[in-house]
Amino acid sequence: MLRTIAQSIHNGPKGHKTDWLLRTVDPKHLAILERECTQPSEFDQILSKQLLYRAYQQGKIQPYVVEHSVTKDVVIALFPSIDSVQDVPWGLWSQIVQLFRRPNGQPHTIFLLAHPAIRQFPQYGKLITPYHINGGYTYPCSADCVFIFRAEDATRVLIHELFHSNCCDNTQLNLEEREAETEAWAELFWCGLLSRGNLKTFKSLVAEQGSLIRTQNRRLVNGHHMKKEYQGFPWRYTIGKELLWAKWNLLQGTTDHMNIGNSMRLTVHPTDAMKKSFGVTSDSTIL
Ligand SMILES: [Zn+2]
Repeated sequence: MLRTIAQSIHNGPKGHKTDWLLRTVDPKHLAILERECTQPSEFDQILSKQLLYRAYQQGKIQPYVVEHSVTKDVVIALFPSIDSVQDVPWGLWSQIVQLFRRPNGQPHTIFLLAHPAIRQFPQYGKLITPYHINGGYTYPCSADCVFIFRAEDATRVLIHELFHSNCCDNTQLNLEEREAETEAWAELFWCGLLSRGNLKTFKSLVAEQGSLIRTQNRRLVNGHHMKKEYQGFPWRYTIGKELLWAKWNLLQGTTDHMNIGNSMRLTVHPTDAMKKSFGVTSDSTIL
């Protein structure tokens, strides 16, 4: 399985920062942004939409809009400061939208509200909620609104939401198992992309990711942040996903004692060298 993924990434489209062309904002996209930001959201518990949309309404920030020269996907971003434009690995995002090009060619509209809140474990005994994990959502099988509302791990969130947007969900499964499968795929695909399709690098990143998954999940259960057996939130993004990685034989040689500090980021922290190679600074959390 790893070899096939690595090969398809290696032989697939390449992405460059220059694939994205600056555009003026389309009123149709602004209307979707307004709709999304003015209705209550069960996922956005960091209140990213309120904060960044209000800053836009008050004229403090302007939408940054780019269109992909090949796929015509559009990214409408609200950054806390315009310098954060550099935090997006645009070349990699170009590669991702090309890989997720829909058969009918319909472009995606991607909203990115780059709120800086990072994912952290709650205090001992406190339950984990969307506040600690969630970073985006979309409407299944619809290309109109892929919505990402935190900067950290936004590349993995983009992949996850594009799977939904492109109708890749296994509808034979119940909601929790379906979500777990989408997340398991997103994290595996993220490892493949960050390895640039190099099988050796991919295998070692998958081993690291497997250790991260096991370590986080052990701490979530031992710290009484969730019940292991309960298939409700956040099982899908944690234990449910781990069960799939185990089923796919991706956890061999991994540990559940990785040094992860207090981070609940769902993918391993990219090294500074990786960030540099993807054209972002060491402060960027988006890769
Ligand atoms: Zn999902």
